[in-house]
Amino acid sequence: MAIATVNPATGQTMATFEAHDSAEVARRIAQAFDAARTLRSTTYTQRAQWMHATADILEADVERAAAMITLEMGKPIAQSRTEVLKCAKNIRFYADNAESFLAAEDLADPASVSASAAGTVWQPLGVVLAVMPWNYPLWQVIRFAAPALMAGNTGLLKHASNVPQSALYLDELFEKGGFPAGSFRTLLIGSREVAAVLEDNRVKAVTLTGSEPAGRSVAATAGREIKKAVLELGGSDPFIVMPSADLEAAATVAVKARVSNNGQSCIAGKRFIVHTDIYDAFVEQFVAKMNALTLGDPMDEATDVGPLATESGRADVAELVDDAVAKGAQVLTGGSAPDHPGWYYPPTVLAGLNDDMRIVMEETFGPVASVYKVADREEAVRTANQTTFGLSSSVWSNDAAEQDWFVANLDAGAVFLNGMTVSYPELPFGGVKDSGYGRELAAAGIREFCNLKTVWKA
Ligand code: NAP
Repeated sequence: MAIATVNPATGQTMATFEAHDSAEVARRIAQAFDAARTLRSTTYTQRAQWMHATADILEADVERAAAMITLEMGKPIAQSRTEVLKCAKNIRFYADNAESFLAAEDLADPASVSASAAGTVWQPLGVVLAVMPWNYPLWQVIRFAAPALMAGNTGLLKHASNVPQSALYLDELFEKGGFPAGSFRTLLIGSREVAAVLEDNRVKAVTLTGSEPAGRSVAATAGREIKKAVLELGGSDPFIVMPSADLEAAATVAVKARVSNNGQSCIAGKRFIVHTDIYDAFVEQFVAKMNALTLGDPMDEATDVGPLATESGRADVAELVDDAVAKGAQVLTGGSAPDHPGWYYPPTVLAGLNDDMRIVMEETFGPVASVYKVADREEAVRTANQTTFGLSSSVWSNDAAEQDWFVANLDAGAVFLNGMTVSYPELPFGGVKDSGYGRELAAAGIREFCNLKTVWKA
């Protein structure tokens, strides 16, 4: 795939970039390796100062960075601003909390292990490779980079080929904040070059956020090389609505959960599983609200839904919808792309689904909702759990016992009760099943790329 910015709102190529050759890749790996030796001997206080300076830069640059994101992948400009500011918040969160998350622990009773003292310390692993997607071009990277650098690791970024300007922006960001040169470096390379970078013995671990095939490929290399991997892969999250729910609130949030980021979020509610008693009332409101959204230019503040990021991404979404319709699904709104430039696809709701349709099992990465009618909570969970994914889930119910039952029975990395799934710096984030393994954010996220070293003293 060419390394280029193609404006999804027009389909026009705005800028193309030469991939780094093998000598440049080697130079950048060496820089990251050297910087890792420097960084591990700096203090948390020093790194936190650099982090806060980095957050200051992002906050001051919010308009320019947001416009860059929207130009490269098409999300509405207000959502791009939110993304930039969320990055700054996450950077400050790790600046303020890394030291306590990685504090040494002493065994209360060292005599029990025949020692005068014993315990654990957390130490950085060194250079970590991050393979990242385009859907949140800054946020996906920052949620890895902030904890990694605060732990004393350094980062190498292989970003998605359609967001090279974001990739180069991140290449400079941490150094501008004061981090030693080489602490965070972008590699402008194609996906075929990833395995060789991970095989380099100076690279100690990898994190990948992206699709299941990419995850399988990178995890296979990591397995062969015996290197730690974190995988944040796809999702087809259930959004379950039960009779005790506040239907108006559920329908409003359902729309946001489905179309935020133009529907291209791993944790978007994608399958709306609704109890039969309130199915008609919920679907009527949901469809009306989806219908009322404005599809248009993502730089226009009034736009709710912009174009999909790539032509092939839109083709994938259209294919899933067309397959379902050909097999008998009903289109309640939307269902076909407008005939004008840009990779637009309208907010769409499908009902009457059956297991022959691909959309039932596959991830829909665009503003297309599938609605399912279920008789009871058991059928709701069966439907929710039937895909190979297990990222997050959302349950709408005001019955406390029912909430607990769903928490116990959903196969997912998270359950959000009466709310949509959102990532917060304070809460662990990640999936089960084919949605991947490992966790980002919170204390769990910073510990993924550390060596928990046991210390025993006679
Ligand atoms: P993608 O095609 O898998 O790309 C993600 C990254 O992996 C890109 O940098 C891509 O590089 C690289 N890549 C692709 N194939 C590879 C391979 N065989 N070996 C090594 N690297 C490879 O995914 P996407 O279409 O950009 O993003 C959408 C997917 O990401 C969805 O499935 C979504 O659910 C998932 N996602 C998950 C999370 C999460 O936290 N769980 C968050 C966001 C997105 P190129 O661009 O050069 O191909």
